[in-house]
Amino acid sequence: LHNTIQELKGNIRVFCRVRPLLSDEGAESETKSITFPTTTEALGRGIEVVQHGQPIPFMFDKVFMPQSSQEEVFTEVSQLVQSALDGYKVCIFAYGQTGSGKTHTMMGTPGSYDDKGLIPRSLEQIFEARQKLKEQGWKYEMQVSMLEIYNETIRDLLSSNKSSSTESSGNKQQYAIKHDANGNTHVSDLTIVDVRSSKEVSFLLNRAAQSRSVGRTQMNEQSSRSHFVFTLRISGVNETMEQQVQGILNLIDLAGSERLSKSGSTGDRLRETQAINKSLSSLSDVIFALAKKEEHIPFRNSKLTYLLQPCLGGDSKTLMVVNVSPAPSSVNESLCSLRFAARVNAC
Ligand code: ADP
Ligand code: MG
Repeated sequence: LHNTIQELKGNIRVFCRVRPLLSDEGAESETKSITFPTTTEALGRGIEVVQHGQPIPFMFDKVFMPQSSQEEVFTEVSQLVQSALDGYKVCIFAYGQTGSGKTHTMMGTPGSYDDKGLIPRSLEQIFEARQKLKEQGWKYEMQVSMLEIYNETIRDLLSSNKSSSTESSGNKQQYAIKHDANGNTHVSDLTIVDVRSSKEVSFLLNRAAQSRSVGRTQMNEQSSRSHFVFTLRISGVNETMEQQVQGILNLIDLAGSERLSKSGSTGDRLRETQAINKSLSSLSDVIFALAKKEEHIPFRNSKLTYLLQPCLGGDSKTLMVVNVSPAPSSVNESLCSLRFAARVNAC
C-alpha cells in the first residue's frame, strides 16, 4: 500500500491533553493540580495529578501540555488519519469531563486557521492526499454522515427534515443500525452526503452544528450530554494496480464523563444520566473485552458501540484522546478520567 503505517503496539492508543487554565479559573501561580515529570522516560508521556499534596503519576503514549497547539496534536494523529485512505477503519474518540477541551480538540474554533481542531485538519489532509494519489492512478469517493446519540436515540444532524428526531419516537424503524457481511454499517434513513472537498465538509459541519442547537434552550448543556459521531467513508480504486480499498474515519466527541449521580436526578435528567453512564461504560466494556480477546464482545449494550462495532475490533485502529482540565476544582474528575485512560492504555 501507498503509506507506511506505523506499527501500533495494540489496536488502541491513548493520548492525554491538558487544556490551559481559563481566565476565570485563577492565576497560573495557584497551586498546581497537574504537573509534568521531566525524567527522560516520562518526558512527553508522563503526567501527575497532585491530590492532597501527593503526585499520582500516569504514563500514556503521548501527553500534550496546556501550551501544545492544535497543530502539534494533529501531527501526532495524522498518520492514523492517513491510514483510512489505505483502507483501515479508524476511530478517534475525545473523552473527558464537560469543559475539559473535547470539542476544542475535535473541532477547534470554526473559521480560525490556527485553532482548527482535529476534524477539519483531518479532512484537509485527506483531500490533499487524495489529489496526490490521483497521480498514482487512485480514484477516491468520499461520503460523510453526522449524527448524535442522545438518550440512546440517534439524531441525524444532516437531515433537512428538522423534526426528524421527534418523529423517530413514533417510528421504530428509523435509524435502525445494520451491519452487512462485508462489515459495512447501514443506518436506515441516515443522510449520507457525497463530498469532493474539505470545503464541502466544512459547510456540512456548520449545518450539523446548527442542527444540534435547533429547538434547544441550553445547547451546551445538551451537547455535553450527547455523543457526536462524524463518519467519513472512503472508497478507493486503482485500475492499473488492480487494487481497491475501503476505509472509514470516525471522529467522536463523547458525552461528558463527569460522575453523574443518580441520586438527586429525576425524570428526564435521570434518564439522560443513565443513558450516558450506560454508553460510556459499554464503550469501556467493549474495549476491555476486545483486549482480553473474550468470546463475547458486548457491542449491543449501547447504540454507540453497536454503531461502531465494525470499527472497534479486528485490524481497526482506535485512538482515545483523554482531555483533562488543570483547574484545582477538577482534580477528582481529572483523576477519574486518567484512571479510565490508564486502563484503556493497558489494552
Ligand atoms: P468540552 O467539549 O470538553 O466540554 P470545550 O472544548 O468546550 O470542552 O472547552 C472548554 C473551554 O476551554 C472552551 O472555552 C475552550 O475554548 C477552552 N479550551 C479547551 N481546550 C483548550 C486549549 N487547548 N487551548 C485553549 N482553550 C481551550
Ligand atoms: Mg463539548
